[in-house]
Amino acid sequence: MDYPTEAEHHALLRETVRRFVEAEMPRELVRQWDRENEFDRGVLYKLADLGLFGITIPGQYGGSGRDITATMIVIEELCRRSTAVGSGYIYGACYAGMNLVETASEAQRQEWLPQVARGEMLFSYGLTEPDVGSDLASVSTTAVRDGDVVRINGAKRFCSGTTYTDYIYALVNSNPGGERYHNLSFVLIPPRHPGVTIEPQHAMGLKGSMTTDVTFSDVEVPARNIVGGDEGWNQGWAKLAGPGLDVEKIEVAAMALGIATGAVEDAWAYAQERVQFGKPISSHQSIRHMLSEARTRLLAARLMTYHAAKLLDEGKPASVETSMAKLFVCDTAKDIVLSMQQVMGAYGYVEDFDMERYVRDVLVMPIIGGSSAIQRNNISNRLKLARE
Ligand SMILES: Cc1cc2nc3c(=O)[nH]c(=O)nc-3n(C[C@H](O)[C@H](O)[C@H](O)COP(=O)(O)OP(=O)(O)OC[C@H]3O[C@@H](n4cnc5c(N)ncnc54)[C@H](O)[C@@H]3O)c2cc1C
Repeated sequence: MDYPTEAEHHALLRETVRRFVEAEMPRELVRQWDRENEFDRGVLYKLADLGLFGITIPGQYGGSGRDITATMIVIEELCRRSTAVGSGYIYGACYAGMNLVETASEAQRQEWLPQVARGEMLFSYGLTEPDVGSDLASVSTTAVRDGDVVRINGAKRFCSGTTYTDYIYALVNSNPGGERYHNLSFVLIPPRHPGVTIEPQHAMGLKGSMTTDVTFSDVEVPARNIVGGDEGWNQGWAKLAGPGLDVEKIEVAAMALGIATGAVEDAWAYAQERVQFGKPISSHQSIRHMLSEARTRLLAARLMTYHAAKLLDEGKPASVETSMAKLFVCDTAKDIVLSMQQVMGAYGYVEDFDMERYVRDVLVMPIIGGSSAIQRNNISNRLKLARE
């Protein structure tokens, strides 16, 4: 019997997700999630039934083995239709699955990862704070160990998905006054828990996966929620800046690639249907050029995303390439989507068409997951560009 090659396997996966999107995420429903800023978590359970939450998790913990390329394909295809579902998928497969494989203790992996693979354990990221954005080592939410309990006080901002996720994967200062980078820990905090207050923030895009302000007031969680167990205490920076960070950069690139792909496909179809001056607008040179340019840039963005994913799958160093992909793909996707909006004229600016949502969603891609400026810093620093 012939088994599919890796490339065939990935092509089949893409086809499967496309079919899933058409069946479970019709355009009207996706627009409703965007309008109402919420969505049905049941969609994620159906994705889990296809085994898609297990593709970041080794077999011994209930997954099908870590495959970064496959993970990016799923993220891209979901975000081609809906960043709400794409984000929900990331909360399980990546924020929970990918992180716990690298950062949890062995006992925690055995207990938690099978739940992640079943789509039952989703994490929100609790990194950003009111006074802390890019400079994450300065977080001031405190965690104090008191026997078998950890007590947390402070606030997180832009904490997305808390209305339906199971835990906030919170970066906390566990040794106030301690040495920078050696005073941080990750603790799992249930969003619906005594002392936790959640307030919506009104972001212009990424609706459906609402972003929120979270306040912790003497919140107590069991010490077993310290990621990495007792040995994880004050090891948060190493867990944040480990290999998982490289994957995270291209997760956002894959989201941006998906949004830009959806925008190009919609504008391409629209240009052939919309008739002005007696012929389809696709016959006007300005429109033809915009669409050709977009297809070209989209290919470049695609090659950069999957090149970085391949390096990670091969276990090769990729911190420069993942930063380059995050920088290039997110900035390029933004430019592509804005030019596709021009192709659709006024109809790219109204809610009756998905283009308006693509525009709102893509604008945040160069900001989240390490801004474009931070990626430029990473690239020049990692390539050892002299400062003096
Ligand atoms: C819709 C949305 C959802 C989000 N979801 C989450 C989430 O789920 N969890 C979470 O923890 N966070 C989340 N965030 C926060 C996001 O990750 C941060 O916005 C991001 O890290 C940047 O932080 P900041 O906006 O505070 O910018 P700042 O760090 O204040 O930066 C402001 C500007 O200064 C530049 N800058 C800062 N430092 C440097 C430097 N050293 N060199 C050069 N330029 C620099 C930046 O590039 C930027 O242009 C979300 C944000 C949004 C808008």
